Amino acid sequence: MIGAVNLSAGYGGTQVLSGVNLSVGAGEFVAVIGPNASGKTTLLKTLASLLKPLSGVVYLDGTMVSKLRARQIARLIGVVLTEQLRPTQLTVFEVVALGRYPYTNPLNTLSETDSREVLRALADVGIEHLAARRFYELSDGQRQKVMIARALAQEPRVLILDEPVTYLDPRARVEVLLTLKRLSKERGVAVIASLHEVELALRVADRLIIVSGGRVALYDSPEEFVARDGPELLYGLGGETAFSPELMSIEFRPPNNGGPRIFVVAGGGSGSLVYRMLARLGYRLSTGVLHAGDIDYYLASLLGGRVISEKAFHPISPEKMQQALSEARDCQAAIYTSPPIGPLNSENRILAEEIARQGPPLIVFGNAVIEGAIARVDDPAALPELIGRALEDGLEARPAAVRR
Ligand code: ADP
Repeated sequence: MIGAVNLSAGYGGTQVLSGVNLSVGAGEFVAVIGPNASGKTTLLKTLASLLKPLSGVVYLDGTMVSKLRARQIARLIGVVLTEQLRPTQLTVFEVVALGRYPYTNPLNTLSETDSREVLRALADVGIEHLAARRFYELSDGQRQKVMIARALAQEPRVLILDEPVTYLDPRARVEVLLTLKRLSKERGVAVIASLHEVELALRVADRLIIVSGGRVALYDSPEEFVARDGPELLYGLGGETAFSPELMSIEFRPPNNGGPRIFVVAGGGSGSLVYRMLARLGYRLSTGVLHAGDIDYYLASLLGGRVISEKAFHPISPEKMQQALSEARDCQAAIYTSPPIGPLNSENRILAEEIARQGPPLIVFGNAVIEGAIARVDDPAALPELIGRALEDGLEARPAAVRR
């Protein structure tokens, strides 16, 4: 459908990208990911023929774009850029009708076909009900849908969008992304969209284009990217961030500043919320006994926690129990996250009871009843204050030496 062969892109004497080879087919939704100023916009504009390649070729349906006239290109490629339309008195219908310019006569009067295509474009992005509204009255999310409808009214084979969801709220983001994905399938359009929302892109795109260091790499699926280069490229986000290939998520590690250390008895995903909360509040994390492969295991490791783990689907051994108890005693507070208990992790309940007896103050989060716990809560919002209290208690009223 659309492709590039040995393409170099940039401005005048400045080359931004080189050696670009890619091909995107009908019905594919491809996300373009890369840091700021890496060249995403440059790539998209060059593919859309808004920017002349420094060298190499862009082709559409097997034809070199340089051989096509502007009107022909406009019938093949619809473009939605970040530059906003000036506030206009035009109605939504009229704005979308502007997309018919590659087809209309010099007087720009709309034929029956033109009107039908405008209505179809409005329906395809789900904004028929806005047709008579003035464009300037709309929300950002609605405006973005209008711009997509305008590009669709061109009946393009390729839809190119630069950061189509960047300024939208989370709900509108998901709506627009799912709309683009649906359009790619229903209309058989090749959709190429740059996104800053890496985690969303990994979940919704058919394929990924990564722009980084002057180069462009095309991956056949988000999974391929994650398995091959994701961790390395996404670790490069800097600071205290870490990327999990298993969870396809980007996490923020707590700073290693010698703050209080909290022991969490978790498992089966029951710890995830508490781990992220502790990291956000800047606490250091120890946890166990977790089975390898448990979602809690991945998350706690990613957050830089000290993880006492057991082999997957093996009962928890006495050694691991001892190790966990000893680690817990070195912590200033403990939390039991009421994990589901079965034959392979029943030791964790006993571990919690032992911590309540001889370890730091224990808080129960969830519905478990552990004798000797200082508190039990269901509401996660109540945890930070309880942890604060437990830490005061642990430091002043129950010094570790006495408890041992
Ligand atoms: P991204 O979309 O990934 O943020 P861009 O494609 O906008 O990156 O920019 C890539 C590089 O090209 C940047 O270094 C930017 O400064 C440069 N650049 C962008 N537009 C122009 C221009 N019109 N003239 C010269 N350089 C430009």
